[in-house]
Amino acid sequence: MHNAAYAALGMNRIYAAFHVTRENLPSALRAIPALGLIGVNLTIPHKEAAARLIKDLSAEARTLGAVNCVVNRRGRLFGDNTDARGLERDLRDLECRLGLAIVIGAGGGAASSILACRRLRATRIVISNRTPARAESLARRFSVKDGKRATIEACGLDALVDSKLLNQARLIINATPMGLTIQRFARLNYDATPADCLFYDLIYSPTPTAFLKPALAARRRAIDGAGMLVNQAELAFKLFNRVDAPDGVMRAALLTALGRHPGAKK
Ligand code: NAP
Repeated sequence: MHNAAYAALGMNRIYAAFHVTRENLPSALRAIPALGLIGVNLTIPHKEAAARLIKDLSAEARTLGAVNCVVNRRGRLFGDNTDARGLERDLRDLECRLGLAIVIGAGGGAASSILACRRLRATRIVISNRTPARAESLARRFSVKDGKRATIEACGLDALVDSKLLNQARLIINATPMGLTIQRFARLNYDATPADCLFYDLIYSPTPTAFLKPALAARRRAIDGAGMLVNQAELAFKLFNRVDAPDGVMRAALLTALGRHPGAKK
């Protein structure tokens, strides 16, 4: 996506991928100014660790406790996060109307999902996570952030078979790597959800994910995280290069890579 944008703008810059282990994250961050890099994106499992390691954070990264963009500001590292805004923009494009939203997971992606749902004026957010204590601590963090009215509750993954809860859900977001790193998804009672419930997977892939496949079979709306990925990348491009990404170029590059028709938005 970034290289397609550089090519379209005729900029002599390149975006490359590096595999960095957990142990090497501190030294990889220190290498950014040493190598004269403009900035980097970070992904799973580094986002929360980077927020602890970088001193200078945007308000958004601080709220989320996670960093997905590091910008080299004349040798000083600045950590930001474009995930929540990327998801919010995609949910708006999808005309998602919120009452109850269920967020599965309690990491950086889940925090971004909660922020996006609050900005879209969800009235109730339920966090469902394998480790309920992590869901509780995320719920506490967001409950006290500002005066917005959404109630935030924490549960285990058993909430996903609670028909009474599911039949009120307008949106269910998967913010875990279930379906990416392990093939199976947790038990979820898809049929208990309203017919217009939107299933949104932060994972993007050429074929429907383990979370979305049963949603499609139950004739529910099912969207993967490609739109969020494009949006967060366009925002990151602006942060790194101080120019807007060229219209539609990054989206077309991603959709082509995923084997989808670039003319189709989703
Ligand atoms: P993270 O911080 O590592 O959080 C992972 C969460 O998933 C944790 O709550 C963890 O539960 C849960 N989990 C992990 N393995 C599990 C399993 N086998 N069964 C049940 N729960 C499991 O990860 P993240 O950064 O939030 O990312 C989550 C996903 O979102 C990733 O797949 C990532 O690629 C995707 N993502 C996509 C975009 C996009 O632009 N589309 C942006 C951000 C993230 P515990 O608390 O119990 O460990």
